[in-house]
Amino acid sequence: MDVTHPAQGELVLRNGMVLSMDPAVGDFEVADVLIKASRIRAVGPRLESDAPSLDCTGRIVIPGFVNSHHHMFQTALRSYWADALATDYFTQSRRGENAIFHQYSARDVYWGQYAGALEQIDAGTTTVVDTSQCTYTPEHTDAAVEALFDSGLRSVYAYSPTSTDPAPHPSYAYPDDLSRLRATRFSSEDQLVTLGMGGPIDRSNWQLARELALPIFTHVNNEAAGLQLERLGSLGLAGAWNTYIHCTGLASSTWQMIAGTGGKVSVSSMVEQTLCTGLPGMQPALDHGIQPSFGTDAVSLGPTDFFSQMRAAYGLQRSRLYERSLTREEVEPSRFATTRDILRMATIEGARAAHLDAKVGSLSPGKEADIVVLDGRKLNAAPVNQATGAAVMMMDTRNVETVLIGGRLVKHAGRLLNVDVPAVTKKLEESAAGIVARSGYPSVVLGSCRT
Ligand SMILES: [Zn+2]
Repeated sequence: MDVTHPAQGELVLRNGMVLSMDPAVGDFEVADVLIKASRIRAVGPRLESDAPSLDCTGRIVIPGFVNSHHHMFQTALRSYWADALATDYFTQSRRGENAIFHQYSARDVYWGQYAGALEQIDAGTTTVVDTSQCTYTPEHTDAAVEALFDSGLRSVYAYSPTSTDPAPHPSYAYPDDLSRLRATRFSSEDQLVTLGMGGPIDRSNWQLARELALPIFTHVNNEAAGLQLERLGSLGLAGAWNTYIHCTGLASSTWQMIAGTGGKVSVSSMVEQTLCTGLPGMQPALDHGIQPSFGTDAVSLGPTDFFSQMRAAYGLQRSRLYERSLTREEVEPSRFATTRDILRMATIEGARAAHLDAKVGSLSPGKEADIVVLDGRKLNAAPVNQATGAAVMMMDTRNVETVLIGGRLVKHAGRLLNVDVPAVTKKLEESAAGIVARSGYPSVVLGSCRT
């Protein structure tokens, strides 16, 4: 039977090594996962079912990764700012008339979002918070939202006002644009794409988000931004609906405010280390009793697969503690993260930071079936002597064999389903060439954005 079109919407993943990320369900060396329609129905050994099955022998079955911070519209600019310092990135991307982002048409936004979403699915990420900063006109926001729906990725479209833009487009329509989207495309929460608010630490933005009952995703990159945050906290505007991105250089008082109000934290370890912001906020978050989640940030700067991200975070957390233990203080061995901690942050903690943990993030009966099957039989993973170690430290995107989102197979036998990849990359190449040419910035194919 063709498992890509299961009868009665049922499917069983048979005989996999199952890491549920739900303590109430547990883990299994060999077990099955039963899916009915969009949801997980049962997890356990030798489940009785006549439903079509997918053999997962030699594979690791995990919840899909949850990326709590991304800017997918930038996909056509992949690797453009890989050499950038903060000043290169922010100046070239958004300051001045020839700023590269200002060259985006609605069509460029569509292909960036669509291709970015497909890349996430291909790499085993099933949910993304897309902090969208290309909201120049309602046509731009519509294109972004349309592409997310078309992709099949579960996502939070976090509308980010461009109110700090020195020359807003004449058709810039915030805040009406956000209210319009809320009333039209996002009148229901029961859909793959839901709405959030991105953008600056700003009282009126945050108040509007609360009026519209939206989660808020905010970049907090330095101590001064943290102090601004504390001011909003003192007005009662900070709460469990907030997710704070990067959290680099924060004062202890800011961390205490975040912890005390139930705020979530999104760490992009790779980009924080390479671009601008100093040491990622992962260890300070843990020191203040907050479990961080992982984001990738933009693909113009660094990789957006979660294997890269998990390894960057794992190495970082351990090296910071090793440094402390070698020079200054005694560090309890229990404070060193394990690969299980890292996988938890990449899945259920990500779901909490996306404010979607009631739906996804673990293989729990009743939750949406967002599931990834990792092939442990490849040369980079076999033999699997320790499952979380294999998933976090050994594997990469080549091991992502099967992906389900909301019970629907979107990648099977190592291939995305119903996607013409060469046609999509061609659209991206055309988009990239047009954006860069219109900006007047030189091509950097053999050069660097810093020259
Ligand atoms: Zn960002």
